[in-house]
Formats: sequence, C-alpha cells, structure tokens
Amino acid sequence: MQHSCSLQIIGILGMGRSGRAVLQRAEQLGITAHCFDDSQPEYQTVSPADWPWQAMDALVISPGIPHNHPAPHLLAQMALDNQVEIISEIEFSIRTGRAGRWVVITGTNGKSTTASLLAHILEQAGVPAQLGGNIGTAITSLPATDDNDILVVEASSYQLETTPSLAPEIGMLLNLTPDHLDRHGGMEGYIAAKANLLRQTPQTASIICGTDAGCTRAREIAGSSATAYLLKQADIEAEFNRGIQLSNPGLQGRHNSENCAAARIAAQILGCDDEVIDAAIASFSALAHRLQPVARTRNIQFINDSKATNGVAATSALSSFQHIYWLAGGQAKEDGITPCLDCLGDVEKAYFYGQSADMFSRTADGHIPVSVFGSLNEAVDAAFSDAQLAPDTDDMQTILLSPAAASFDQFDNFEARGDAFSAIACALADNAERQVSC
Ligand code: ADP
Repeated sequence: MQHSCSLQIIGILGMGRSGRAVLQRAEQLGITAHCFDDSQPEYQTVSPADWPWQAMDALVISPGIPHNHPAPHLLAQMALDNQVEIISEIEFSIRTGRAGRWVVITGTNGKSTTASLLAHILEQAGVPAQLGGNIGTAITSLPATDDNDILVVEASSYQLETTPSLAPEIGMLLNLTPDHLDRHGGMEGYIAAKANLLRQTPQTASIICGTDAGCTRAREIAGSSATAYLLKQADIEAEFNRGIQLSNPGLQGRHNSENCAAARIAAQILGCDDEVIDAAIASFSALAHRLQPVARTRNIQFINDSKATNGVAATSALSSFQHIYWLAGGQAKEDGITPCLDCLGDVEKAYFYGQSADMFSRTADGHIPVSVFGSLNEAVDAAFSDAQLAPDTDDMQTILLSPAAASFDQFDNFEARGDAFSAIACALADNAERQVSC
C-alpha cells in the first residue's frame, strides 16, 4: 500500500505493545522499519551499527526507554548523534494519518479512571468513541477512524515529550505531583513534558485542575492559547455532593470526584447532557487494581490498590477507609510516603515490604505502628493475623494494598503485584470461610 506521510525509513526501539503496533502498521504502509529490543533479539534483522542512520526519518521509541534522562539508551544516543528525530508511537500514528477528534488525558494520577469513565459516558450517550494510548490498545492499532470519530487517549509524560504534533480538540491535565523524576531530570522537566499537551490551537479546549500548583506551572510553561476550563475545588465538591459517584463502589473517594468532574466537563463539551452523564457515572465498572475489593471474610475486607505507584495516589486510598492495615513498598518515588503522613489517622498498622521497606519505616516511625517484611506474602499474612485480633465489633477492618511505590523490585508490573495480592487474599479468606467469590 502506498502512503502519503513523510516517513519512509524508521527505527523502532522497544518491541512491546506499541513497538509491535508500529511495526505492523509500517509493513502495511510499505515503510522500511529496523527493529531493536534489548531482550527480544528475534526482532533484529540488521545490527543497529549498520542501520541507514543518515537516511532514517525517525526513531520510534517505547515509552519505557529513556532518550535523555537519566541517560539515553545506546540507540537513542545513536539517533541523537545522527540528528534522527525521536518520536512516540502516538506521533507515528498522527504522521501516518490517524484521523479523529482527539481528547487527550494526562496527569500524575487518575488518567486511566478518567479516560475509561469518559469513554463509558460517550458510549452510554450513543456517541462513537474509541479508547487507547497508555491504557489498553496502542493508538496505531485502533480500527480506522474518520474525522468525526472521537479518540479518548490516555497519555503519559513519556509519550507527551515525544509527540510534538499533538493538538487535541480537548486536552485534560488532572494533577501534577512528583513522579518519574529520574526520567525527566527533575520536577520542572516532568511538568514541561506534561505541558506539551497544553500547546494547542485557539480552537481547542483545556480542562485543567486549577487548584494544583503543578498544573498552574504547566499552564505557564505552555503559554497556552486554548480555552481553559479550570477545575475549582467547588466543582470537585459539587461533584461529590451530587452523590452519584458515591453510589458506585468503583468510584469511591474524593479523588474520584476530581476524575468525575473532569470527565463531566469533557462530556458536556462533546454534547452529552447531565442526565446521561449521571447515569453513566452510576453504571461505570470499577477498573481492576484501583481500590478493588478482592476478598472478604466476616468483618475483614481485602482491597487491591496496586496501581497506587506513588505516595499521593496512596493518600487517596488511605482517606477512603477506616481501620486500615496498610501494605506498602517497592521501588519508591523521590518523596516516598511523605505525602501520606497527613492521612494516617485511620491506619491501625503499616506492613512495609520490598526495596523501600526501611525508608518507609523511617518516615512512618512515630506516626503509626510499623513492621518490616521481606515479601508481600509475609506482609499480608501478618496483616491478616492482626486484623483477626481486632475487637469484636461490626466495624469493617480493611487490609489495603496501596504500595506508594513501583512494583519492579519484586514483580513484572503493577498488575502482577495486584494479582499476587488477590491470590493471597482469596486463599486466606477461603481458609477463614470466604463469603465473597474471588
Ligand atoms: P493513572 O492512570 O494516572 O495511574 P488511575 O486511574 O489508574 O491513574 O489510578 C491510579 C491510582 O491513583 C489509584 O490508586 C487511584 O486510587 C489513585 N487516583 C485516581 N485518581 C486520582 C486523583 N484524581 N488524585 C489522586 N489519586 C488518584
């Protein structure tokens, strides 16, 4: 098939979900693609030293691979040395003609929930829309779209800093707190990456959390000319007070008021009325690994919040329950669990495990009782034993996995960590007369 885009010869660095999608599309379009993956040599047909660097139009890089901080991957360095542009899979998708009305959602926390919720609202409203990007399907792999189709796109900071052509109809920036700082050379670099979303045309709209210092700084950096809908604390409170979100176990907590309020504004801009939006918020199915109830026995419930990979995300869970037995640990972010210190009032005890156990323990010392463990398994066992000793009341005791850290020291990803926790929880609850199926 002939193609009209400017890409004739590309490199693909990283053959995960997005790299494979790019390769497949490149083959369909007759674009020559040279592939490389550190751990999947089967994709490499030509040694990178022999790639036609001088003739290459772009290197499409996987979001997980650094191209500047903390140090460029060897192939990214080769691209830089040869003045070959480094782009994301989303940029590739735009340059190879992906049409549609783009709604792009980013932020430190709440991206997946808000993007999925907006896609659900549009579906309930009968508006054709597709969901992809950092969640689910790579944009390149979505079915063909035309100019009227809505694309709800979750975008990470890594994707945003390598997608210069992005100019969505609606850009949404939910919140900005320290995360992935090693990959962006510090907080200013992280904010600048997110700010790329706000460099839009005057015809487009931005939905930005106006109460968040990081978001305010991003607006300054972007010098945006887009129409901005600033989400105020009063909007978030109004969403909470509507009570619809609270009737849905998948959207508990004040943080989800922010997500619902932001999704509501986007849906209104796209023509949905409040009645449909309310019904969709009520019927939205909870995403796995976010405040997900996974097992229960008598008055003890197990909650899987494995997606809480930073301290601020864990504060959301710690503010959502009482009598909490808190499991946390892994590869900590720079601020560790410091953001959680104001939210420990309902924590009975913390059970820290993995690489960050000692660091977390030092931070929490003097605030709550703490024990340190080598593995998640041991930590859950101990938490369950303690919860069973709680005074015999009707009060629900919550064993909460909300790690406040990345999973990679002990698991492949946050899903594997959440699945491991769920399996342990189900086994413990089974033994103690499980009442809810897993
Ligand atoms: P992301 O895709 O940005 O990682 P998710 O919707 O998957 O966001 O939620 C990740 C974690 O962050 C979960 O633990 C969730 O409870 C928490 N969270 C969700 N929305 C918010 C928010 N608006 N503010 C703070 N924390 C949030």
